[in-house]
Parts: sequence; structure tokens; C-alpha cells
Amino acid sequence: MTVAPETSRKVAIVGAGPAGLFAADIIAARGHHVTIYERMASPARKFLLAGRGGLNLTHSENTAAFLDRYGDDARCVRAAVERFPPEKLIAWANGLGAETFVGSSGRVFPRAMKASPLLRAWLRRLTGLGVTIKTRHRWTGFTPSGGLQFELADKSQIEVDADAVLLALGGASWPKLGSDGSWVEPFKQTGIDVTTLAPANCGVIVPWSDIFRTRFEGSALKRIALTIDGTTRRGEAIVTRDGLEGGAVYALGPYIRAALGRDRTATLLVDLKPDMTHADLVARLARPRGKDTVTNFLRKAVHLDAAAAGLLREAGLPDGVDALATRIKAVPIQMTGLARIERAISTAGGVAWQSLTGGLMLSTRPGVFLAGEMLDWEAPTGGYLLQATFATSAVAANGLLDWLRTQD
Ligand SMILES: Cc1cc2nc3c(=O)[nH]c(=O)nc-3n(C[C@H](O)[C@H](O)[C@H](O)COP(=O)(O)OP(=O)(O)OC[C@H]3O[C@@H](n4cnc5c(N)ncnc54)[C@H](O)[C@@H]3O)c2cc1C
Repeated sequence: MTVAPETSRKVAIVGAGPAGLFAADIIAARGHHVTIYERMASPARKFLLAGRGGLNLTHSENTAAFLDRYGDDARCVRAAVERFPPEKLIAWANGLGAETFVGSSGRVFPRAMKASPLLRAWLRRLTGLGVTIKTRHRWTGFTPSGGLQFELADKSQIEVDADAVLLALGGASWPKLGSDGSWVEPFKQTGIDVTTLAPANCGVIVPWSDIFRTRFEGSALKRIALTIDGTTRRGEAIVTRDGLEGGAVYALGPYIRAALGRDRTATLLVDLKPDMTHADLVARLARPRGKDTVTNFLRKAVHLDAAAAGLLREAGLPDGVDALATRIKAVPIQMTGLARIERAISTAGGVAWQSLTGGLMLSTRPGVFLAGEMLDWEAPTGGYLLQATFATSAVAANGLLDWLRTQD
């Protein structure tokens, strides 16, 4: 429902991902004239891709656990999520007819398990609020007078002035969907502090032997625990052609990135049997192997499947029951890098918080607000990315509305 505005103003939003669209929703509902500029031919391509995995909107865990997902350094994003918590996001989705449910893992999804019905209803509502979306407009920087510079499909340039601006340009993962991090240079040129963009929720590179790669590419390592530098996460990992990916790997992302940044190679320890103690394993492995192959023996004695046994062999099978049990609890995997940002689910780094006010306005550019993944935060998969995207968008949109009021 449109609320009568204080004074109707012209607001430019750049980026038609979830952060930009949600800000448009909030700002246009106050009666302002909102135009969204988007470089691609259609809006929200990454949001639609997220829908292929069911569109994990948010998570149902308790607030303290939820906020911990953003790490200790991200006080601002935690504050945004506290102001716009999962209940509000769920209510918003329900309001667009996308009824949600909590999956067995505690993750929250729309019942349709895709993004397109929700996006269609959302765009209809924005049209009803008078929001215009101008596609094929690539933002290339600020004009000397503080306006916005765009390049159109035919390479011509235009300038746009607005009473207030909200930039929601995303990170740099999956650039073919629109967000390519090309905003970083114009930001740096105007002295805005940007933490280097890096792949997050991405795989790691492991130089597998040909034998292991050929046999196990695509296999899952289920119910494992991964440890790096004393930090452990449980979950699952998938063997890829060049390494490992999957929830447990993504959850250790910041620690893996730090270790690789320090030493260029780093060792990940895989506990193939996190629910068994070393003593349990020794007791089971002590029984005679008989005529069983090693793989069969490991399957029967400690329920290791073929991929887990293959990984054990890849690292080298030690002699003796005690050493074998120790190895099953900590198979060393040598990582030589992170997978490329082009295939990462999200981006770490972004505009530094110290460049922003509490309402997410650039301190050096009054009237310019930022939201979404272009800010310097990261989170694991599980709904935490979209939750923070919507939450920072709500804070920036409300910050913009407050600021416009001061300009009356
Ligand atoms: C495969 C995949 C699956 C995912 N699944 C989930 C999930 O299930 N749950 C979850 O929480 N998160 C998921 N995510 C992450 C989530 O999609 C992102 O965190 C979210 O889309 C970020 O929103 P945003 O609006 O900040 O940026 P984006 O969605 O990247 O949108 C930014 C928009 O800005 C436009 N843009 C960029 N630069 C310019 C420019 N110079 N000029 C004009 N326009 C520009 C882009 O084209 C884009 O439309 C997934 C991501 C991927 C890649």
C-alpha cells in the first residue's frame, strides 16, 4: 500500500538484484519516483539461479546462532539482520504469495522451490508502485557533479541526476549473470575504501592423482568433518575434477582463504568418521582382515564407502591399526588454491564499513546509499546470504528515506 509521501522525490537505484528490488519496494511505497537501472537485459538473474537450488531464503535457527554466521568482524551486517530478521523476510515473501516452509535442515524455502513465481509477483507489485526498470544501462561511475554515468547497449553514454541514489551492484561471482565487480575501480578512483573481492562459498583446488580423479570425480564424502588451523566444520563435500566443494568446505571458507593467503598451500584435515573415537576405530580395525581387499575390509569394519576409502589411499595408507585409525580421523589434503570467483556462490570483501554511515550512506557522498553483496561481509550458504542482502537493503532504503526527509 502506498503511503502519502512527505515530498515526492526522484530516486535512482542501480542494480536489479534482490537488494536493489527490495530497496525499490520500500522507497516507492513511500510515494517516491523510483527508477532502477540494470546492466543486463532482465532483472535478478542471480536470484533466479539461486532458485534452481530451491531458493533458500533464510534459516530458522535461533538469533544468536544466526548472527554468529556473519563472523565477529561484521558487526554492521549483524546489526542489519537484527533490525530485519528472518521473520520479516518470511512475512515479506508470504505477502507476495510465496508461502514458505522450513526444510529438515532448518533452511527456509518458498513452497514452489524456485524464484520465478516470487520474482513475477514482486515485479508486478513494483510496477503497481510506479517503479520503472531501465535495463541495458551499465553504471560506469560518478560524474564530476556527483551524478551517475551510464553506458547503454549501443555504447553511448548518458548521465542521470537524482535526489538520492542507492547502489546495489552485487559482488563478482558468476559475472555472466551481471555482477562482475567492475564498480570497484570507479569507487577506488573516488577514494572509497574497498576490501579486495575474493571468492566465498567456493571449492578448493587439490592436485588429485589421475587415478583418484578418474574414479571419484563427482562422488560425495558424506558425514565428514573438515578441520583447518584448529577450526572444524561438519557436513558433506563433493570430489571435483580439480579439488573439493560442498557445504563443509564452504563453511571453512574464511579460514581456508586466510591459510592460503599466508602460505599459498594449506592442509585440510578430513575426519572420515567424526562420530567414532580413535579408540572405537582401533577396536574395529583390530579384527582380522582375512581375504578381504583393503576397501572391503574398511567398508565392513568401519563403514567407509568407496570414495572415503579412495581418499584414504590417496593420502597413503599407513601400517598398523593405531596409525590407520589416526589417519581415518585426519586425512591430510593439500590445497593449492581456491576455485575461481566465476563459479563461487558469493563474494567476500566489498565496500569497507568505515566508509559508511549507520544508514549505509557513503560518508564522502551524501545521498548515495549502498546495499547487498557489494558491502564487506560474507556468510556461509544456508539462507544467510539472501537474509543479509535483504537486511542491508532495508537499512539502506530506510537510511535514504530518513536522509531525504532532512532535505525537505
Ligand atoms: C548459484 C548460486 C546459488 C545461490 N543460492 C542462494 C541461496 O539459495 N540462498 C542464499 O541466501 N543465497 C544464494 N546465493 C547468493 C545470492 O544470490 C546473492 O547473495 C544475492 O543475489 C546478492 O544480491 P545483490 O542484490 O546484492 O546482488 P546481485 O544479485 O548480484 O544483483 C546485483 C545486480 O546489479 C547489476 N549490476 C552489477 N553491476 C552493474 C553496473 N555496473 N551497472 C548496472 N547494473 C549492474 C547486476 O547485473 C545484478 O542484476 C546464490 C548465489 C549463486 C551464484
